[in-house]
Amino acid sequence: MRAFNFCAGPAALPTAVLERAREELLDWRGAGCSVMEISHRNPLYMEVAGKAEQDLRTLLSIPEHYAVLFLSGGATTQFSMVPFNLARQDAPADYIDTGHWSAKAIREGARYTRARVVASAREDGYRSVPECPREAFDEGAAYVHYCPNETIHGVAFPFIPETGDVPLVADYSSAILSGPLDVSRFGVIYAGAQKNIGPAGITVVIVRRDLIGRARPDTPALYDYALHAGQGSMANTPPTYPWYLAGLVFEWLLEQGGLPAIEAVNARKAEKLYACIDGSDFYRNPVRPDCRSRMNVPFTLADDRLDNAFLEESAASGLLFLKGHRAVGGMRASLYNAVPEEAVDALVAFLQEFERTRG
Ligand SMILES: *Cc1c(COP(=O)(O)O)cnc(C)c1O
Repeated sequence: MRAFNFCAGPAALPTAVLERAREELLDWRGAGCSVMEISHRNPLYMEVAGKAEQDLRTLLSIPEHYAVLFLSGGATTQFSMVPFNLARQDAPADYIDTGHWSAKAIREGARYTRARVVASAREDGYRSVPECPREAFDEGAAYVHYCPNETIHGVAFPFIPETGDVPLVADYSSAILSGPLDVSRFGVIYAGAQKNIGPAGITVVIVRRDLIGRARPDTPALYDYALHAGQGSMANTPPTYPWYLAGLVFEWLLEQGGLPAIEAVNARKAEKLYACIDGSDFYRNPVRPDCRSRMNVPFTLADDRLDNAFLEESAASGLLFLKGHRAVGGMRASLYNAVPEEAVDALVAFLQEFERTRG
Protein backbone atom coordinates (compact mmCIF):
# COMPACT_ATOMS: atom_id res chain seq x y z
CA MET A 1 0.00 0.00 0.00
CA ARG A 2 1.52 3.31 -1.07
CA ALA A 3 0.62 6.26 1.13
CA PHE A 4 0.01 9.77 -0.19
CA ASN A 5 3.37 11.52 -0.14
CA PHE A 6 3.57 15.31 0.23
CA CYS A 7 7.35 15.49 0.70
CA ALA A 8 9.07 18.62 -0.63
CA GLY A 9 12.00 16.63 -1.97
CA PRO A 10 13.19 14.07 -2.71
CA ALA A 11 9.55 13.74 -3.55
CA ALA A 12 6.93 11.29 -4.78
CA LEU A 13 7.50 9.55 -8.10
CA PRO A 14 4.64 8.27 -10.26
CA THR A 15 3.71 4.76 -9.15
CA ALA A 16 3.60 3.63 -12.79
CA VAL A 17 7.23 4.73 -13.20
CA LEU A 18 8.37 2.80 -10.13
CA GLU A 19 6.49 -0.28 -11.30
CA ARG A 20 8.18 -0.15 -14.68
CA ALA A 21 11.59 0.36 -13.05
CA ARG A 22 10.90 -2.67 -10.86
CA GLU A 23 9.93 -4.77 -13.86
CA GLU A 24 13.13 -3.80 -15.65
CA LEU A 25 15.43 -3.86 -12.63
CA LEU A 26 17.16 -7.23 -12.97
CA ASP A 27 17.02 -7.78 -16.69
CA TRP A 28 16.74 -4.52 -18.51
CA ARG A 29 15.04 -5.03 -21.88
CA GLY A 30 16.73 -8.37 -22.43
CA ALA A 31 20.27 -7.10 -21.78
CA GLY A 32 20.78 -9.69 -19.02
CA CYS A 33 21.66 -7.02 -16.48
CA SER A 34 20.29 -3.85 -14.96
CA VAL A 35 20.48 -0.55 -16.81
CA MET A 36 22.65 0.72 -13.94
CA GLU A 37 25.17 -2.04 -14.60
CA ILE A 38 26.14 -1.08 -18.12
CA SER A 39 28.51 1.51 -19.54
CA HIS A 40 27.16 4.96 -20.23
CA ARG A 41 28.88 4.62 -23.64
CA ASN A 42 27.03 1.42 -24.51
CA PRO A 43 24.79 2.17 -27.52
CA LEU A 44 21.83 0.75 -25.58
CA TYR A 45 22.36 3.30 -22.83
CA MET A 46 23.10 6.13 -25.27
CA GLU A 47 19.68 5.44 -26.74
CA VAL A 48 18.02 5.76 -23.33
CA ALA A 49 19.87 9.00 -22.65
CA GLY A 50 19.07 10.44 -26.05
CA LYS A 51 15.39 9.48 -25.81
CA ALA A 52 15.13 11.18 -22.40
CA GLU A 53 16.55 14.37 -23.85
CA GLN A 54 14.25 14.16 -26.87
CA ASP A 55 11.16 13.61 -24.72
CA LEU A 56 12.12 16.54 -22.48
CA ARG A 57 12.54 18.68 -25.59
CA THR A 58 9.10 17.62 -26.77
CA LEU A 59 7.46 18.27 -23.39
CA LEU A 60 8.89 21.78 -23.03
CA SER A 61 9.09 22.59 -26.77
CA ILE A 62 12.76 23.39 -26.25
CA PRO A 63 14.09 25.22 -29.33
CA GLU A 64 17.09 23.81 -31.20
CA HIS A 65 19.29 26.72 -30.18
CA TYR A 66 19.21 25.48 -26.60
CA ALA A 67 21.42 22.68 -25.29
CA VAL A 68 20.03 20.27 -22.69
CA LEU A 69 22.56 19.00 -20.15
CA PHE A 70 22.12 16.20 -17.61
CA LEU A 71 24.61 16.90 -14.82
CA SER A 72 25.32 15.84 -11.27
CA GLY A 73 25.77 18.13 -8.29
CA GLY A 74 22.20 19.26 -7.72
CA ALA A 75 20.73 22.70 -8.20
CA THR A 76 23.14 24.02 -5.57
CA THR A 77 26.10 23.39 -7.86
CA GLN A 78 24.45 25.67 -10.42
CA PHE A 79 24.61 28.52 -7.88
CA SER A 80 28.36 28.63 -8.66
CA MET A 81 28.38 27.08 -12.13
CA VAL A 82 26.22 29.91 -13.46
CA PRO A 83 28.66 32.66 -12.47
CA PHE A 84 31.63 30.63 -13.68
CA ASN A 85 30.01 30.38 -17.10
CA LEU A 86 28.12 33.66 -17.47
CA ALA A 87 29.68 36.29 -15.19
CA ARG A 88 31.89 39.00 -16.66
CA GLN A 89 34.60 41.04 -15.01
CA ASP A 90 33.26 44.31 -16.37
CA ALA A 91 29.64 43.76 -15.39
CA PRO A 92 27.49 43.04 -12.34
CA ALA A 93 25.14 40.08 -12.10
CA ASP A 94 21.64 41.01 -10.99
CA TYR A 95 19.68 38.83 -8.57
CA ILE A 96 16.07 38.84 -7.40
CA ASP A 97 15.63 37.87 -3.75
CA THR A 98 12.40 36.04 -2.97
CA GLY A 99 13.33 33.74 -0.09
CA HIS A 100 15.47 30.83 0.98
CA TRP A 101 16.70 29.44 -2.34
CA SER A 102 17.26 32.69 -4.18
CA ALA A 103 19.17 33.92 -1.11
CA LYS A 104 21.45 30.89 -1.25
CA ALA A 105 22.08 31.52 -4.94
CA ILE A 106 22.97 35.14 -4.14
CA ARG A 107 25.37 34.20 -1.35
CA GLU A 108 27.16 31.71 -3.57
CA GLY A 109 27.12 33.98 -6.62
CA ALA A 110 28.70 36.78 -4.58
CA ARG A 111 31.78 34.61 -4.07
CA TYR A 112 32.51 34.68 -7.80
CA THR A 113 31.04 37.87 -9.21
CA ARG A 114 29.63 41.28 -8.35
CA ALA A 115 26.17 40.02 -7.35
CA ARG A 116 23.65 42.82 -6.86
CA VAL A 117 20.22 42.34 -5.33
CA VAL A 118 18.05 44.49 -7.59
CA ALA A 119 14.64 43.47 -6.27
CA SER A 120 13.65 41.84 -3.00
CA ALA A 121 10.55 40.63 -1.20
CA ARG A 122 12.32 40.69 2.16
CA GLU A 123 10.36 43.77 3.38
CA ASP A 124 7.19 41.82 2.77
CA GLY A 125 8.42 38.82 4.77
CA TYR A 126 8.70 36.82 1.54
CA ARG A 127 4.95 36.61 1.14
CA SER A 128 4.94 37.90 -2.44
CA VAL A 129 7.34 38.59 -5.28
CA PRO A 130 8.74 42.08 -5.89
CA GLU A 131 7.71 44.08 -8.89
CA CYS A 132 10.40 43.73 -11.50
CA PRO A 133 10.14 46.60 -13.94
CA ARG A 134 12.69 46.37 -16.71
CA GLU A 135 14.41 49.51 -15.33
CA ALA A 136 15.27 47.50 -12.20
CA PHE A 137 17.90 45.59 -14.15
CA ASP A 138 21.23 46.93 -15.34
CA GLU A 139 21.18 46.85 -19.14
CA GLY A 140 24.80 45.79 -19.07
CA ALA A 141 24.43 43.05 -16.44
CA ALA A 142 25.91 39.66 -17.25
CA TYR A 143 22.66 37.95 -16.27
CA VAL A 144 19.59 38.20 -14.06
CA HIS A 145 19.01 35.29 -11.67
CA TYR A 146 15.75 34.41 -9.96
CA CYS A 147 13.82 31.52 -8.46
CA PRO A 148 10.37 31.20 -10.09
CA ASN A 149 9.08 28.94 -7.31
CA GLU A 150 10.40 29.27 -3.76
CA THR A 151 9.98 25.76 -2.43
CA ILE A 152 10.10 26.71 1.26
CA HIS A 153 8.11 29.95 1.29
CA GLY A 154 5.54 28.65 -1.20
CA VAL A 155 5.87 31.75 -3.34
CA ALA A 156 5.73 31.65 -7.14
CA PHE A 157 6.19 34.33 -9.78
CA PRO A 158 2.95 34.96 -11.68
CA PHE A 159 5.06 36.45 -14.49
CA ILE A 160 8.45 36.01 -16.15
CA PRO A 161 10.67 39.05 -15.49
CA GLU A 162 11.35 41.10 -18.61
CA THR A 163 15.11 41.63 -18.82
CA GLY A 164 15.58 42.77 -22.41
CA ASP A 165 18.85 41.47 -23.85
CA VAL A 166 20.21 40.39 -20.47
CA PRO A 167 20.06 36.58 -20.15
CA LEU A 168 17.52 35.46 -17.58
CA VAL A 169 18.64 32.54 -15.39
CA ALA A 170 16.02 30.57 -13.47
CA ASP A 171 16.30 28.01 -10.69
CA TYR A 172 13.23 26.02 -11.71
CA SER A 173 13.92 23.07 -9.37
CA SER A 174 10.48 22.89 -7.78
CA ALA A 175 8.22 23.93 -10.65
CA ILE A 176 9.77 22.67 -13.89
CA LEU A 177 7.37 20.47 -15.89
CA SER A 178 4.38 21.57 -13.80
CA GLY A 179 3.01 23.31 -16.89
CA PRO A 180 4.08 24.66 -20.28
CA LEU A 181 6.94 27.15 -20.30
CA ASP A 182 8.25 29.54 -22.96
CA VAL A 183 11.89 28.44 -22.86
CA SER A 184 12.86 31.13 -25.36
CA ARG A 185 12.44 33.77 -22.62
CA PHE A 186 15.43 32.33 -20.73
CA GLY A 187 19.18 32.20 -21.03
CA VAL A 188 19.53 29.30 -18.59
CA ILE A 189 16.97 27.12 -16.82
CA TYR A 190 18.22 24.64 -14.27
CA ALA A 191 16.46 22.20 -11.98
CA GLY A 192 17.51 19.51 -9.54
CA ALA A 193 15.57 16.37 -10.38
CA GLN A 194 14.22 15.34 -7.01
CA LYS A 195 11.10 17.50 -7.04
CA ASN A 196 9.41 17.12 -10.39
CA ILE A 197 11.79 15.19 -12.66
CA GLY A 198 13.02 12.03 -11.00
CA PRO A 199 15.18 10.84 -8.12
CA ALA A 200 17.93 12.92 -6.53
CA GLY A 201 21.31 12.79 -8.25
CA ILE A 202 20.74 14.47 -11.56
CA THR A 203 20.23 18.08 -12.57
CA VAL A 204 18.80 19.32 -15.84
CA VAL A 205 20.34 22.47 -17.33
CA ILE A 206 18.77 24.04 -20.41
CA VAL A 207 21.13 26.65 -21.80
CA ARG A 208 20.97 28.90 -24.84
CA ARG A 209 23.84 27.84 -27.05
CA ASP A 210 25.29 31.32 -27.55
CA LEU A 211 25.94 31.45 -23.78
CA ILE A 212 28.11 28.34 -23.95
CA GLY A 213 31.86 28.70 -24.32
CA ARG A 214 32.30 31.90 -22.33
CA ALA A 215 33.47 30.41 -19.04
CA ARG A 216 36.20 32.30 -17.24
CA PRO A 217 39.70 30.86 -17.74
CA ASP A 218 40.08 29.34 -14.25
CA THR A 219 36.81 27.39 -14.49
CA PRO A 220 37.23 23.78 -13.33
CA ALA A 221 36.73 21.56 -16.36
CA LEU A 222 33.55 19.94 -15.03
CA TYR A 223 32.05 23.35 -14.31
CA ASP A 224 32.22 24.42 -17.93
CA TYR A 225 28.93 24.10 -19.84
CA ALA A 226 31.00 23.85 -23.05
CA LEU A 227 32.61 20.59 -21.94
CA HIS A 228 29.25 18.97 -21.18
CA ALA A 229 27.50 20.35 -24.25
CA GLY A 230 30.34 19.13 -26.46
CA GLN A 231 30.22 15.60 -25.06
CA GLY A 232 26.52 14.97 -24.65
CA SER A 233 26.79 15.27 -20.84
CA MET A 234 29.17 12.30 -20.89
CA ALA A 235 32.48 14.05 -20.25
CA ASN A 236 32.59 11.90 -17.13
CA THR A 237 30.22 9.20 -15.93
CA PRO A 238 26.78 10.75 -15.59
CA PRO A 239 24.25 9.54 -12.97
CA THR A 240 23.01 6.84 -15.32
CA TYR A 241 20.19 5.41 -13.23
CA PRO A 242 18.61 8.77 -12.29
CA TRP A 243 18.85 9.75 -15.97
CA TYR A 244 17.02 6.54 -16.96
CA LEU A 245 14.35 7.15 -14.30
CA ALA A 246 13.93 10.76 -15.42
CA GLY A 247 13.35 9.37 -18.91
CA LEU A 248 10.58 7.13 -17.57
CA VAL A 249 8.99 10.16 -15.90
CA PHE A 250 9.11 12.09 -19.20
CA GLU A 251 7.40 9.17 -20.97
CA TRP A 252 4.77 9.09 -18.22
CA LEU A 253 4.15 12.83 -18.64
CA LEU A 254 3.71 12.43 -22.38
CA GLU A 255 1.21 9.62 -21.74
CA GLN A 256 -0.72 11.94 -19.41
CA GLY A 257 -1.17 14.34 -22.33
CA GLY A 258 1.93 16.46 -21.81
CA LEU A 259 2.29 19.66 -19.82
CA PRO A 260 -1.05 21.33 -20.65
CA ALA A 261 -2.84 18.28 -19.25
CA ILE A 262 -0.71 18.02 -16.12
CA GLU A 263 -1.04 21.77 -15.56
CA ALA A 264 -4.83 21.47 -15.49
CA VAL A 265 -4.57 18.76 -12.82
CA ASN A 266 -2.05 20.83 -10.85
CA ALA A 267 -4.34 23.87 -10.97
CA ARG A 268 -7.28 21.85 -9.62
CA LYS A 269 -5.15 20.30 -6.85
CA ALA A 270 -3.86 23.68 -5.67
CA GLU A 271 -7.29 25.33 -5.88
CA LYS A 272 -8.85 22.63 -3.72
CA LEU A 273 -6.20 22.93 -1.02
CA TYR A 274 -6.09 26.75 -0.93
CA ALA A 275 -9.90 26.89 -0.88
CA CYS A 276 -9.91 24.61 2.15
CA ILE A 277 -7.27 26.71 3.93
CA ASP A 278 -8.91 30.04 3.08
CA GLY A 279 -12.35 28.75 4.02
CA SER A 280 -11.24 28.04 7.57
CA ASP A 281 -10.12 30.21 10.50
CA PHE A 282 -8.08 27.28 11.78
CA TYR A 283 -5.58 27.02 8.88
CA ARG A 284 -3.68 29.87 7.37
CA ASN A 285 -1.42 30.49 4.37
CA PRO A 286 0.32 33.87 4.47
CA VAL A 287 1.21 34.25 0.78
CA ARG A 288 -0.42 36.93 -1.35
CA PRO A 289 -2.98 35.04 -3.45
CA ASP A 290 -1.55 35.96 -6.86
CA CYS A 291 1.92 34.72 -5.78
CA ARG A 292 0.89 31.41 -4.30
CA SER A 293 2.77 28.34 -5.44
CA ARG A 294 0.83 25.45 -6.96
CA MET A 295 3.66 23.11 -6.04
CA ASN A 296 4.41 23.94 -2.40
CA VAL A 297 1.66 24.99 -0.02
CA PRO A 298 2.86 26.04 3.44
CA PHE A 299 0.23 26.53 6.12
CA THR A 300 0.00 26.97 9.87
CA LEU A 301 -2.52 25.83 12.45
CA ALA A 302 -4.22 28.46 14.60
CA ASP A 303 -2.69 26.78 17.66
CA ASP A 304 0.84 25.49 17.12
CA ARG A 305 0.55 23.30 20.20
CA LEU A 306 -1.49 21.03 17.94
CA ASP A 307 1.32 20.67 15.39
CA ASN A 308 2.60 17.37 16.73
CA ALA A 309 -0.86 15.84 16.97
CA PHE A 310 -1.54 17.02 13.43
CA LEU A 311 1.61 15.38 12.11
CA GLU A 312 1.04 12.13 13.98
CA GLU A 313 -2.59 11.80 12.97
CA SER A 314 -2.01 12.76 9.35
CA ALA A 315 0.81 10.20 9.04
CA ALA A 316 -1.42 7.57 10.66
CA SER A 317 -4.04 8.39 8.00
CA GLY A 318 -1.53 7.71 5.22
CA LEU A 319 -0.67 11.36 4.52
CA LEU A 320 3.10 11.56 4.72
CA PHE A 321 5.65 14.31 5.34
CA LEU A 322 3.47 17.36 5.98
CA LYS A 323 5.95 18.99 8.34
CA GLY A 324 6.99 22.45 7.16
CA HIS A 325 10.61 23.48 6.62
CA ARG A 326 12.33 24.49 9.85
CA ALA A 327 13.01 27.96 8.38
CA VAL A 328 9.31 28.84 8.34
CA GLY A 329 7.72 26.24 10.66
CA GLY A 330 4.16 24.97 10.46
CA MET A 331 3.14 22.56 7.72
CA ARG A 332 3.77 22.23 4.03
CA ALA A 333 2.09 20.09 1.41
CA SER A 334 4.05 19.70 -1.82
CA LEU A 335 1.80 18.90 -4.75
CA TYR A 336 4.23 17.92 -7.50
CA ASN A 337 3.12 16.17 -10.69
CA ALA A 338 3.37 12.70 -9.13
CA VAL A 339 0.95 13.60 -6.31
CA PRO A 340 -2.46 12.49 -7.61
CA GLU A 341 -5.62 14.51 -7.19
CA GLU A 342 -6.98 11.83 -4.82
CA ALA A 343 -4.11 12.65 -2.48
CA VAL A 344 -5.29 16.24 -2.27
CA ASP A 345 -8.90 15.12 -1.77
CA ALA A 346 -7.75 12.92 1.11
CA LEU A 347 -5.70 15.77 2.58
CA VAL A 348 -8.62 18.19 2.41
CA ALA A 349 -10.89 15.65 4.10
CA PHE A 350 -8.29 15.17 6.81
CA LEU A 351 -7.87 18.93 7.34
CA GLN A 352 -11.62 19.35 7.74
CA GLU A 353 -11.92 16.44 10.13
CA PHE A 354 -8.94 17.58 12.22
CA GLU A 355 -10.41 21.06 12.53
CA ARG A 356 -13.80 19.63 13.46
CA THR A 357 -12.40 17.43 16.23
CA ARG A 358 -9.47 19.57 17.46
CA GLY A 359 -10.19 23.12 16.34
C1 LIG B 1 15.57 21.72 -3.63
C2 LIG B 1 15.99 23.01 -4.23
C3 LIG B 1 17.35 23.35 -4.38
C4 LIG B 1 18.47 22.48 -3.89
O1 LIG B 1 18.67 21.41 -4.70
P1 LIG B 1 19.91 20.39 -4.45
O2 LIG B 1 19.66 19.37 -5.50
O3 LIG B 1 19.77 19.88 -3.04
O4 LIG B 1 21.16 21.14 -4.64
C5 LIG B 1 17.65 24.55 -4.99
N1 LIG B 1 16.70 25.39 -5.42
C6 LIG B 1 15.38 25.10 -5.27
C7 LIG B 1 14.36 26.06 -5.76
C8 LIG B 1 14.99 23.91 -4.67
O5 LIG B 1 13.69 23.61 -4.51
